[in-house]
Amino acid sequence: EAVLVWFRQDLRLNDNPALYQAAKQGRILPVYILPAAQQDGWFPGAASRWWLHHSLDSLGKRLGGALRLFQGEALELIPELLHQTGIKKVYWNRDFQPAQMQRDRRLQQHLEQQGIQVTTFNASLLWEPTQVLKSDGSPYRVYTPFFRHGCLKQPEPRYPLPAPPSIKTMSSAPNGLSLQQLELLPDSPWYRQIARQWQPGEPGAGDRLASFVEQRLASYQRGRDHPGLDATSRLSPHLHFGELSPNQIWYVARHAELPRACEPDRERFMAELGWREFSHYLLYHWPELPQSNFQPKFDRFDWSDDPESLRAWQQGRTGIPMVDAGMRELWQTGYMHNRVRMIVGSFLVKNLRQHWHRGQAWFWDTLVDADLANNSASWQWVAGSGADAAPYFRIFNPVTQGEKFDPKGGYVRRFCPELAALPDKYLHSPWQAPVSVLKKSGVQLGTNYPRPMVDLKLSRAEALAAFAAIKQ
Ligand code: FAD
Repeated sequence: EAVLVWFRQDLRLNDNPALYQAAKQGRILPVYILPAAQQDGWFPGAASRWWLHHSLDSLGKRLGGALRLFQGEALELIPELLHQTGIKKVYWNRDFQPAQMQRDRRLQQHLEQQGIQVTTFNASLLWEPTQVLKSDGSPYRVYTPFFRHGCLKQPEPRYPLPAPPSIKTMSSAPNGLSLQQLELLPDSPWYRQIARQWQPGEPGAGDRLASFVEQRLASYQRGRDHPGLDATSRLSPHLHFGELSPNQIWYVARHAELPRACEPDRERFMAELGWREFSHYLLYHWPELPQSNFQPKFDRFDWSDDPESLRAWQQGRTGIPMVDAGMRELWQTGYMHNRVRMIVGSFLVKNLRQHWHRGQAWFWDTLVDADLANNSASWQWVAGSGADAAPYFRIFNPVTQGEKFDPKGGYVRRFCPELAALPDKYLHSPWQAPVSVLKKSGVQLGTNYPRPMVDLKLSRAEALAAFAAIKQ
């Protein structure tokens, strides 16, 4: 019997329970639907759309051209497709984002009323959010007990499935749109530089996982905070689009052969997958997370409204090398190292006192791994307004952070080449360099590199005063 398989953020053949079970039943009709606009306002940003284009292209080829693309409202399109084809079964993998969950519930109800069988699976989280609760039945708010006592005490995550041994697709299926008609690629080719760094699609995800486990897992703990090293997995965009599942990563990392001394590296990496689970868990239990301060006292915070300084931050011309390098990495590669995301975030929210929504929106548009759960939870963490957040008074000093995590300056020199000739000692704070050193290094502050847009000490004190005002 034929089954309609609705692909969403699970653009893969391996470890795809909906696809696997459907393929066992008989012929399948694989479908992807791009919403016309997102109900909750979170339509994929520009960098995500570039990625999605290529990921759909890859999946389409892997399905032998059978993937049908549509744009519009799934609540209308799926019943229509079922009507046209006579299919009576629909399979999909669950999406835990609030607007999608609501839509899926309505669709499922509607279809079941029409006698259609709907079967759904978990394919994107190691543990479902309803499974992990405190002993009193309420959800965790703090990461460590969530992961240690909540997740790790659960049965082991589901072992990954192989790709279906054979996939037979429907020969007479409605045509749908071409990939070009989805218009995911921007008009101007700003993404060329980004394209060189990434290989969207399931094969690229598999290569990335294999090379990480072979070459970098064993030094993950020591390397992960150094943005100048290629020490992390860079699996985040692949995970976001579901080109591989967290289960595949979990088991590959767990079974990787490592010297005993590298157990902390393995553990640390798996704990980061735990942070991903935690963000999705928070979004599930607190659907307001992308919009509202988790701690309501931040509703009273005195945010500054200054479009000019926001633009300087976005464009990487704040005059603070570590911040500028991060913002330029983001623009040039569609990615930013986690340590630097925290530094640029703290600078925006604390030194510039801009609302975390502004940072969240810019990241949403420019990150290839933009993810509603991870992005919202992380911005609230940085702002100090989140569940289990960094306390507000913990204000990252971008100079000492740079000196600690980019001591040889490889990262700053790569993204701020105009500072490359500065000695390490002044690289993270060029404004402190003697005039003779600046001159020798070809750095003209205010001309070829900006003077710092704020005084770090003063703006820190102002941020703390603004925080003191909402503390009572
Ligand atoms: P690795 O270090 O190799 O970690 C492996 C995987 O674990 C990652 O791919 C990711 O899925 C998960 N992970 C790691 N760190 C975190 C974390 N702190 N929170 C949640 N999951 C984590 N991540 C996104 O995927 N999308 C976002 O939109 C996003 N926005 C962020 C915004 C801010 C302000 C900050 C501070 C962090 C944000 N992160 C986001 C989390 C983190 O920076 C990235 O997941 C990580 O840098 C991805 O690189 P990687 O794959 O090499 O990570």
